Amino acid sequence: TTVPESQPFQAEVAELLNLMVHSVYSETDIFLRELISNASDACDKLRYEAISAPDLIADGAPPRIRIAPDKKANTLSVVDSGIGMDRQELVDNLGTIARSGTKSFISRLTEAKDGANLIGQFGVGFYAAFMVAERIVVTSRRAGSDQVFVWSSSGGSGFEIAPASDEDAQRVTRGTEIVLHLKKEAAKYLETYEIERIVRAYSDNIQFPIELVPEEGEPRQINSASALWQRPRSELTPEDYKQAYQQVAGAFDEPAMTLHYRAEGRQSYAVMLFAPSTKPFDLFDQARKGKVKLYVRRVFIADDADVLPAYLRFIRGVIDSEDLPLNISREMLQNNPQLTQIRKAVTGRVISELESLGEKEPEAFAKIWDAFGPVIKEGIWEDFERREKLLGLSRFTTTKGEKRTLKQYVDDLRPNQTDIYYLTGESVERLKSNPKLESATARGIEVLLLTDPVDAFWTSAPLDFGGKPLKSLSQGDIDFALIPLLEEKTEDKAESGADEATTIALIKDALGERVSDVRASQRLTSSASCLVAGGGAHDRMLERLLAMQNK
Ligand code: ADP
Ligand code: MG
Repeated sequence: TTVPESQPFQAEVAELLNLMVHSVYSETDIFLRELISNASDACDKLRYEAISAPDLIADGAPPRIRIAPDKKANTLSVVDSGIGMDRQELVDNLGTIARSGTKSFISRLTEAKDGANLIGQFGVGFYAAFMVAERIVVTSRRAGSDQVFVWSSSGGSGFEIAPASDEDAQRVTRGTEIVLHLKKEAAKYLETYEIERIVRAYSDNIQFPIELVPEEGEPRQINSASALWQRPRSELTPEDYKQAYQQVAGAFDEPAMTLHYRAEGRQSYAVMLFAPSTKPFDLFDQARKGKVKLYVRRVFIADDADVLPAYLRFIRGVIDSEDLPLNISREMLQNNPQLTQIRKAVTGRVISELESLGEKEPEAFAKIWDAFGPVIKEGIWEDFERREKLLGLSRFTTTKGEKRTLKQYVDDLRPNQTDIYYLTGESVERLKSNPKLESATARGIEVLLLTDPVDAFWTSAPLDFGGKPLKSLSQGDIDFALIPLLEEKTEDKAESGADEATTIALIKDALGERVSDVRASQRLTSSASCLVAGGGAHDRMLERLLAMQNK
């Protein structure tokens, strides 16, 4: 036999395990959900690979998941007949966390008092098993391989990896066996009723059969193993949807929006999508990857098929097509005309669902907007076709209040007001004391106060809403002359106009090349002067952002 080789965990994994062991997260039940979800993913991957390599399932054994408690040995095993892992995959998948942003997230987690809440945003996955196990042994055979490897770890700083003994290799014919040596305080997970309870609560709608293997008696299936999205809405309860959402998203929160329907016609497909009510930690990841899983006739194809545009990347769920070819490669997905149609239809549907949620359930919509508004606004910039719709969906803090819509803004226009005005800046407080607001305030003109970094981008596109152009108060050509003041000032205007020309000449001399022009303005009422960008020039906030990026 070969001596096992020891390897260290990636630093982030070691830190995460340390957190798990000291149990920042009190809901230990979820370890089982995580292992079952991995087992289910492994079965999905096997079915997908078997489309082009039918030999992989030539033995006829259907993909399934088994859970076996053993009180004498004090172990709980979760076994799947899925795709399995080879040596390198064991090392990579169970020794590192590949998701970018992990490092900074984990250090936030270590510092935070409410680590338990934060960890839900992250999805601890496999490592959650260390909450209940003092030692974990994973034996795995990649489908089609004649080699079997054993990965084992007691948490801490590393793991061991070695080829399996003959006995182990005979037992694991395909897929992965995970054996948890339970901590004393986790002995309850050996009780069959506990296992059944947890599976029903978290994993009932896993597509593959989950079988409980009692110490005595025959294995029996303990989940309903149906593809939930294929069932009619009338059969499903809010609890079903919550479970489906938490399952598919690996999340702990409640969905703020659920969209479930079947499209029939030129194409048939089932759609079950959710908007979370809280932000995941990697929302602003550069890759901007979507998280909607694509299935074809119940067979999983890809979880990053870009079914929705990047600015809807927070939406989670499943789309299951009846018409796409099963053997479509992930590379071909990009240009498949059928998928392009689905993409377009589903995107439109998600947006109109958000619209009606905004009208009918403003509180649920507010959760989505607070968590994902800055992401949705990316669409104003990049989705030309749906620009006006997305503007309509947006909620703004303005000089008149919070969560204002542009529709409300336009309904409240002042006499002779033809434009929608905004200011961009770092915070609402700072914007409120901006001298550029003075003249607008004096005339009762509402101004959008934009403080998300993304605001500088979408506002740099030429925009209008309901035929009213959006204009920055920081730009040069704003003229409020025709809009009446709320109350006329009694000051003598003629007097102050007298030496205007001299004053401007003096200031121009002093500032020289640093400004392109100096003008008298009606924009200010109590401040003496302010800086503006020339008409048509970039807004100042964007200028600063661009300058930062060029450094
Ligand atoms: P995630 O599921 O979000 O990728 P996990 O920590 O749950 O993160 O799992 C890490 C990786 O380990 C998975 O992506 C998968 O590649 C691999 N893995 C875990 N469990 C299994 C299993 N039962 N069969 C095959 N691969 C697995
Ligand atoms: Mg997982």
